Amino acid sequence: MSVLDAIGDTPLIRLTRITAGLAAEVHLKAEFLNPGGSVKDRAALAMVQAAEESGELLPGGVIVEGTSGNTGIGLAMIAAQRGYRALVVVPDKSSEEKIKTLRAYGAEVVITVGGVPREDPRHVSQVAARLAAETPGGWLAGQYDNPANPGAHLATTGPEIWRQTGRRITHFVAGIGTGGTISGAGAFLRKTGTVTIVGADPENSVYGGGDGSPYYVESIGHYVHPATDQDVWPQSYHPQVVDRIERVSDRESIEMTRRLAREEGILAGASTGTAVVAALRVAQGLHPGSLVVVLAPDSGRAYLSKYFDDGWLRRAGFPAPPAPGPLVGDVPATAPLLLAADATVRDLPARTGPDTVAILVLPRRGRPISDPAPGDVIGAVPLAATAGAAPDTPLTTFAQPPLPPVGINEPAIEALARTPPDTTRLAVLTDGRITGIVTRPSLTALTSNEPAS
Ligand code: PMP
Repeated sequence: MSVLDAIGDTPLIRLTRITAGLAAEVHLKAEFLNPGGSVKDRAALAMVQAAEESGELLPGGVIVEGTSGNTGIGLAMIAAQRGYRALVVVPDKSSEEKIKTLRAYGAEVVITVGGVPREDPRHVSQVAARLAAETPGGWLAGQYDNPANPGAHLATTGPEIWRQTGRRITHFVAGIGTGGTISGAGAFLRKTGTVTIVGADPENSVYGGGDGSPYYVESIGHYVHPATDQDVWPQSYHPQVVDRIERVSDRESIEMTRRLAREEGILAGASTGTAVVAALRVAQGLHPGSLVVVLAPDSGRAYLSKYFDDGWLRRAGFPAPPAPGPLVGDVPATAPLLLAADATVRDLPARTGPDTVAILVLPRRGRPISDPAPGDVIGAVPLAATAGAAPDTPLTTFAQPPLPPVGINEPAIEALARTPPDTTRLAVLTDGRITGIVTRPSLTALTSNEPAS
């Protein structure tokens, strides 16, 4: 048996505590038990096998993919076992752990800039395509559009679940990243005529009707960069397979991810939290005899310094165990003045205080600007700087770097210590969104018990 034979046939684990009071059974398909640590081992193996069969990938060839995530890890593992080189392109925002995991399997990692539109030649997918074309023996796995990705789940994940539940499954719930899992497993289960397929999607993701603005759960949903001309959905996602989509907030996903570890002993990633929130909503309306299967794509080990870290939660303004001392939220915050990034001096409200700072936010199609995440913000404009400027002057002319974000339930002393001392204003995050502005002197006064000057 090789390590690749250990891919698939993952256990189905019944959830017992977080399901208290529900008539339906809820079972979790533990994909984090695959040897590479995630559901993506299945797609990676199927894509490599298909390319070997078609002759696109030849002995001694180079497997190329653009992803910071689990597919890269799966491909790197398979490349090591089969004697290929692996070249993985990742955005510069990828965690050190992920890059180190890829390197541990012997993959070569190419780092490019993240957060650029898909059309940009520096975009991860563009760099990967170029490297695959330029490298002798190069083959681009292309999980977003490779039919072997949903094909893996049609051939394995779906049938396994059908067999493991003794054909009793009534509902299947999974997140949608490339769409491979839900499209493949969903297609198989739907064909039985008795299973409802439910997608679990971050609230802002466009799959479920969101506006594509940033969110905090990694690896699922579909984010759209505001400068994107034409948004393209992966060909691996077949929306017609999905009966309905449950939209889940970051806060709900993160809270559920932590509950799973503490109440069920299941340490999984945040996309599992999203899927389980959706699964419990689905189960709520069901009668005894119903059986919900929810897919858990990866392990929480990869996110110990994020969703499982109380400091990270507090810095982003998500609920966390109470911290000592006065908190950022203990000083009164002023409502942020939010303006579109293309606003001009003419767009400034008539009455503003001399100290007002406007926050310039990337525009969203069809959405008024509200509660932006730090990733939406391009800069801050002290309105004093605009005095006397012509009405059609773009506000970006006066833009300074974005106000440093601090969490509403973060200790004031920590917020002060980790933000540059010359920034007088800080953006307060609640559930990861900018909800107010506080001044440094007011926080300092709080920590020293002196009135603010
Ligand atoms: N969760 C995690 C952690 C993942 O890495 C992925 C893969 N992007 C998904 C969910 C979504 O799976 P799929 O690409 O098959 O839709």
